[in-house]
Amino acid sequence: MEHIENDSQYNGLTVNQGVSQPPSVNPYLRRRRPRPMPTAGELVEGILKGDITMLSRAVTLVESLSSDHHALAQEVIEKCLPHSGNSRRIGITGVPGAGKSTSIDVFGLHVLRQGGKLAVLAIDPSSERTKGSILGDKTRMEKLSLEQNAFIRPSPSAGSLGGVARKTRETIVLCEAAGYDNIFVETVGVGQSETAVHSMVDFFLLIQLAGTGDELQGIKRGIMEMADGIVINKADGDNIPRAELAKAQFTSALHLFPTPESGWTPEVLTYSGYYELGIEMVWNMIDRYFNFVKANGYFEYKRSKQARYWMYETIDSELRANFYRNPEIEAMLADREKQVLDNRLSSFIAARQVLDTYFNRGNNLGK
Ligand code: GDP
Repeated sequence: MEHIENDSQYNGLTVNQGVSQPPSVNPYLRRRRPRPMPTAGELVEGILKGDITMLSRAVTLVESLSSDHHALAQEVIEKCLPHSGNSRRIGITGVPGAGKSTSIDVFGLHVLRQGGKLAVLAIDPSSERTKGSILGDKTRMEKLSLEQNAFIRPSPSAGSLGGVARKTRETIVLCEAAGYDNIFVETVGVGQSETAVHSMVDFFLLIQLAGTGDELQGIKRGIMEMADGIVINKADGDNIPRAELAKAQFTSALHLFPTPESGWTPEVLTYSGYYELGIEMVWNMIDRYFNFVKANGYFEYKRSKQARYWMYETIDSELRANFYRNPEIEAMLADREKQVLDNRLSSFIAARQVLDTYFNRGNNLGK
């Protein structure tokens, strides 16, 4: 067909016939076939041998939202459980910029030099919003990511804080079965995620900064109360006197808290992650803590309390998911919500109606 712009009114312009373009995708490129999914037995065998590919695949299954993957992951976790538990689980928290990644890099190398293997996991519930986790990111731990005995995994990104935390908790089991005898769980010290981390670690390290005005400002009392050790980072150069001052302030603030259940008095230390000063002192403190709580029985006591916590946490979340996943409930909720918003029904009656429907026919609904 003649092109419209070849009309005589577009004087001086001619539009030539185009040539057909080659396909943009190389026709010789063969599509990669998806890797076949290993069985639970193969995964477990690989994990127990310390095969990092199998471990990563199992962790991906744990994080997956598909129910098939979920079932397979549960089978793998169950088989790994008898081989788990033999590690030091350490939670590391601090506000963004406190120096978590710099510190984990050097703490991690310190741990690896003593032998053994280290897994770095993370809990970052905000990562769903920001699409992609900033915590536990390999690129932030340059030295550690080159180490063969280090396994670094960013935060699972899907779901609620409880869901994200549970996945990390399950990943700990897999890592321990794969022979990782040191587990770091990183989180941002600004909100709820510390409580979740606290419920899965043996030692909770709070990284603080000095020289930012009021030293205790912005630190939630609850977070300080959970800490087994407070370390003030960036104690280098001109910052040393301020770090020492912060140490004195934190030490006296800690005196206001009741003695923790563990019987261990949290210690306050200064160090520099960047210049690698005082790393050994921090690690000696952690060693002392483990010796202390293993000797007084608190270590085992806390782990069993945590196991109970995760049992109920899992029940709670499964019940909730079962309720909200149900199509009949979903439709009813939409309807009742509208009525409540229009002031045609009270919130309590609406809730009662939906719950009654769920419980009365719950036996069939839940399936
Ligand atoms: P994160 O957000 O808690 O992971 O903090 P980063 O590890 O990314 O550190 C934030 C900034 O502080 C970076 O620019 C680091 O280079 C710097 N930094 C970390 N540790 C130290 C330290 O010990 N001394 C000094 N002077 N700077 C540090």
